[in-house]
Amino acid sequence: MDQTSSRQGNILYDWPGEGCESSLKFLDSAQLGPQPYDAVIVGAGVVGCALAYRLSRFQLRVLLVDKNFDVGEGSSKGNSAIIHTGFDATPGSLESELVTQASRQWPTLAEKLKIPYDPCGAVLLAIDDEQEAQLPKIHKKALANGVDDVRLLTPPELREIEPNAPPDVRGGIAVPRESIVDPFTASIAFAEVALANGVDLLLGASIVAVENPDAAVKTLMTSSGKRVTTRILVNAAGLGSRALADAYAGQPFDINPRRGQFLIFDKFSRPLVRGILLPVPTPQTKGVLVIPSIFGNLIAGPTAEDLPLGSPDATCTTKDGLEAVFDGAARLFPRLKGQMVIGAYAGARCNCSQGSYLIRYNDHHPGILSVIGIRSTGLTSSPALADYLIRGLVDNCELKLQEKPEAMDCRPEHRWPGWWRKPFENEDMLRRRPDYGRFTCTCENVSCGEVIDALESPLKPRTLDAVKRRTRALMGRCQGFGCLVALAEVISSRCGIPLESVTKNGPGSELLNS
Ligand SMILES: Cc1cc2nc3c(=O)[nH]c(=O)nc-3n(C[C@H](O)[C@H](O)[C@H](O)COP(=O)(O)OP(=O)(O)OC[C@H]3O[C@@H](n4cnc5c(N)ncnc54)[C@H](O)[C@@H]3O)c2cc1C
Repeated sequence: MDQTSSRQGNILYDWPGEGCESSLKFLDSAQLGPQPYDAVIVGAGVVGCALAYRLSRFQLRVLLVDKNFDVGEGSSKGNSAIIHTGFDATPGSLESELVTQASRQWPTLAEKLKIPYDPCGAVLLAIDDEQEAQLPKIHKKALANGVDDVRLLTPPELREIEPNAPPDVRGGIAVPRESIVDPFTASIAFAEVALANGVDLLLGASIVAVENPDAAVKTLMTSSGKRVTTRILVNAAGLGSRALADAYAGQPFDINPRRGQFLIFDKFSRPLVRGILLPVPTPQTKGVLVIPSIFGNLIAGPTAEDLPLGSPDATCTTKDGLEAVFDGAARLFPRLKGQMVIGAYAGARCNCSQGSYLIRYNDHHPGILSVIGIRSTGLTSSPALADYLIRGLVDNCELKLQEKPEAMDCRPEHRWPGWWRKPFENEDMLRRRPDYGRFTCTCENVSCGEVIDALESPLKPRTLDAVKRRTRALMGRCQGFGCLVALAEVISSRCGIPLESVTKNGPGSELLNS
């Protein structure tokens, strides 16, 4: 295997048209260098990004590829953003093992990688006799999963934690280590460290064919006809994993999107709860939760609706779905009635009929790893899953690991640390950069200077959605009504992109077309 130097990785976009400057464009396979990669990870969701981050500590040539035009654009952007303890997982399952392991890693990881994280805790509420009868069983399951800090609560104890719980609540369970996190920054942070350690990142490139899956060096082809060679192929493509497995004739499995819809409440609602409110799960679903968001809003959701694979509606919200969310959340938390909804979104879980966390090494071909059905807990498990996969690649796929002493394990400092910094509050910064005082988004107080810093940050975001997830512009009460054009103008002028070519999320979503 190649001995790689500590060079920073390349970021390239396979971007037809003018929505991205030519210096970032992937025009020719030669830009990736003459040597095959040691590993190509297809899918830059939180799972692929975490794997790239962990692999970047070793002397390996690694490429992370995604068909979308930012990292974390699949299931990883439309979830409940909870770092689960695993208290309700199936004891003895791989999911339980990885989630419980990862939940203990997250506090340190979040600090190292500057991922906003809040160990706000959760309470599970029983609101009728039937649910109350379930509590001892759920408590026992939590203990079997090694989550030993859970405790049964009487109604007065529960109301002490959550004074706005329903007046007739029958009891509950406290789960103190359930936490919330910024799900967007998670994928971004993993990918940024990977990039700093030399991993290359290719966005906007859909892998549509694997030409010689049995060969020691495999050739992958993108939808634009460019080729990438690699010794190991990791299929971490989420809902795209079925189509990708077809490209190398992997073993059979069935997946479908399980849609989850959410309502976002205004920031005034946030003080009404202390932590996450969980319903008693049914055999079919975990139910609708009330979740504080790390950004200061309150979220209600998700639904669990199975749709066919390839459904164009997998991430659409519906009237019925949002009504079900509201009704479910209001049963758990009656004071939600009368709170102001400012937005809604939906995410699609990768539901696999053969079970969750289906990991196949040498999937019909040597050196191909399929990671399938990371359905409901992948945000939490991603760091532990990445380590598990690396051990498996060493044991099963002849991956050789040699530490890279110069590799960094913390997110590198750069001018754009994230949306939580408010540079206009710092007089020195404001004096040096007056653009920190010129606001692009007034709902979330995002200055033009912060947008510029985000555009110049290591992953070079170039779409409105990518900048939104980094800065929170477009995410406030007006949901972009007041700042969309201003944001597009900053992207256009800073990156030299014609205004009409600035896109929501890549070619085909040009601002002035939609
Ligand atoms: C409603 C909902 C609520 C959830 N709540 C939580 C929670 O609170 N806590 C938690 O831990 N987890 C939660 N999850 C689960 C979590 O979001 C997922 O497990 C996780 O995001 C899966 O990450 P991934 O990287 O496997 O998939 P994805 O994020 O979907 O990434 C797969 C990537 O592969 C790319 N891709 C696909 N095909 C190709 C191809 N051929 N070529 C190139 N790229 C390709 C896609 O563009 C995509 O970016 C929730 C999920 C949903 C939907």
